[in-house]
Amino acid sequence: MTILRNLRRLFFPHCCCCCGAPLVGSEHDVCTRCMETLPLTHYATLPDNLAALRLRGRVDCEAVTASVFFREGNTTQTMLHNIKYRGEIGLAHTMGRFMGEELAASHRFDGVELLVPVPLHRRKQRRRGYNQSLELCRGIAESFPRPISVDNLVRTVYTESQTHKSRIDRMANMEGVFAVRQPELFAGRHLLLVDDVMTTGATVEAACQPLLAIDGVRVSIATLAVAGDY
Ligand SMILES: [Zn+2]
Repeated sequence: MTILRNLRRLFFPHCCCCCGAPLVGSEHDVCTRCMETLPLTHYATLPDNLAALRLRGRVDCEAVTASVFFREGNTTQTMLHNIKYRGEIGLAHTMGRFMGEELAASHRFDGVELLVPVPLHRRKQRRRGYNQSLELCRGIAESFPRPISVDNLVRTVYTESQTHKSRIDRMANMEGVFAVRQPELFAGRHLLLVDDVMTTGATVEAACQPLLAIDGVRVSIATLAVAGDY
């Protein structure tokens, strides 16, 4: 299936990477029909949204948003899978641009000075060849122009897939996973931490720890997707 799909993309690059339909007109990477079936959250304009509430009491952050709902078997799941494991970097840019449009239009994120992707461990990044969160940032920066901090926040501990762990296990597993190389580069700045998906929030919580330990740092959070019902 993957081989066939990849071959098809090789010879017909102008196909939707979610459903395989030919792209027309101004469509990029994903067709209008798939875009329309994406369950949008509209959280950018909603301060007390599900993603923000999930982090409340755990992370002291400014504004939190996620653009689309994720659940088993929906279009978002296909999209995330393609972005994360199938090298669909163009799709990451397209969705990042969409995230940036929402951030800009909401004006809740106007104070953000720097985009910070949640990093992969360097071993995982070498194997995958790219970091999907960084690619989302590149898309965001096109419609919400801010510089991207590429390698100041680092993942120092290699963690296995968290999918089958309980929430408590995930949190214990994430403790001390991230570090900041040069804290002075972030001091006093308002950072936007960017990730592909928020499930329990354990990853962004762990990534915020070394950031919020720096003098004067404020953190806002944007993920492409959030696990939850709609
Ligand atoms: Zn499609």
